Amino acid sequence: MSYPQTVIAKFGGTSVADYDAMNRSADVVLADENVRVVVLSASAGITNLLVALASGLEATERFVKLDAIRKIQYDIVERLANPQIIREEVERLLENITTLAEAASLATSTALTDELVSHGELMSTLLFVEILRERKIDAQWFDIRKIMRTNDRFGRAEPDVATLAELANQQLQPRLAQSLVITQGFIGSEAKGRTTTLGRGGSDYTAALLGEALHASRVDIWTDVPGIYTTDPRVVPAAKRIDKIAFEEAAEMATFGAKVLHPATLMPAVRSDIPVFVGSSKDPKAGGTLVCNKTENPPLFRALALRRKQTLVTLNSLSMLHSHGFLAEVFNILAQHNVSVDLITTSEVSIALTLDTTGSTSNSDSPLTTSLLTELSSLCRVEVEENLALIAIIGNKLSQACGVGKEVFGVLDPFNIRMICYGASSYNLCFLVPGDDAEKVVQKLHHNLFE
Ligand code: ADP
Ligand code: ASP
Ligand code: MG
Repeated sequence: MSYPQTVIAKFGGTSVADYDAMNRSADVVLADENVRVVVLSASAGITNLLVALASGLEATERFVKLDAIRKIQYDIVERLANPQIIREEVERLLENITTLAEAASLATSTALTDELVSHGELMSTLLFVEILRERKIDAQWFDIRKIMRTNDRFGRAEPDVATLAELANQQLQPRLAQSLVITQGFIGSEAKGRTTTLGRGGSDYTAALLGEALHASRVDIWTDVPGIYTTDPRVVPAAKRIDKIAFEEAAEMATFGAKVLHPATLMPAVRSDIPVFVGSSKDPKAGGTLVCNKTENPPLFRALALRRKQTLVTLNSLSMLHSHGFLAEVFNILAQHNVSVDLITTSEVSIALTLDTTGSTSNSDSPLTTSLLTELSSLCRVEVEENLALIAIIGNKLSQACGVGKEVFGVLDPFNIRMICYGASSYNLCFLVPGDDAEKVVQKLHHNLFE
């Protein structure tokens, strides 16, 4: 049996942070009978604690983190009416965490990290099922790893979409007739059955992937803000909600750091044309943003996004003037090291490029490895600058409009603009500034373009 109206509802960390937040999220689920699948993140704070444990801590520090995890989860367990059974299950997971954290203190590995961090989502989903059952709602816990098959790039694994569709049909679809299904965002499994993760913030992506696999009519992302704003409302309190936004625009925002959506979230939604709604589980009545296929009169300037922790690599050729093949050689080396270039500008004898260092669970996942630097250095002079911030202006037909440069850079004269990328995409204009100036730049630009 298929459910043409199936809605996938995803709740982020703050929406399952504690007993009250979980109950508010349960209210949201129950308010829409079309919600058949609920995807959860770990309770707020848990993933960071688990990532810290995975980095291999000495005993005292380890116990501090373990206690913090225990406290967050037990504060929920203790408020349940019948906590006996669930307490045992949570205890079992906490014991696993303790053992794995001890193993990490002896030797870390990316596979071990993913195994450890997956426990956050395993615990939150168990607790949420129990909260629904207390409310006499038929809900079943489902281990997403049975169907979310990925490659073995631990920390930032890629899902196998075709296999997911097949397995979701066999193993998940039949359950939708029986009861609500509660499952984990963010985690998956590779061919040998080892646990993987889709990268930090990956639960949004899970929800969209399930939406695609189950032919859902909508994916709802419930978070701590009532929609997608013209920029992060934490950075600019005057930011305005965008009620309706096109897939491409929202995807650009997510790619360039609008944390409200994981960068890959909209790929499955675009492929299958499934609208994505973003709202606040704290205040569902406040409405939200609908991300969909088309919007009317898309504005020239839509939003600003900010991505911190950017590394700029400048390569100066020792003999590039009038020679050829330098770019090809550089890209060849980068490809061999599995590094994808983000922004790029070139001149006659040099190339500047940024490498995105955010997003993975793995602490050692910086793309700038010593072997990469050594290899590049044999070809050219390499300079590395860290702690820059990428500011992206998202808009429509930007490269066709007049006066964009003046409007954007006219107000930024007090700041050092380290690099500018404009023209390749008509949806964005990006530039780098020193990390410490990032918020001031966003505030100033927002004031000029949106207020
Ligand atoms: P969750 O845990 O629910 O996934 P996240 O913290 O990942 O929540 O994402 C929500 C946060 O995204 C908001 O609290 C907000 O600070 C941030 N954010 C960044 N850019 C935007 C934007 N353009 N609109 C709304 N929120 C944004
Ligand atoms: N719990 C994971 C994280 O903190 C995934 C998510 O929240 O989407 O990154
Ligand atoms: Mg998130």
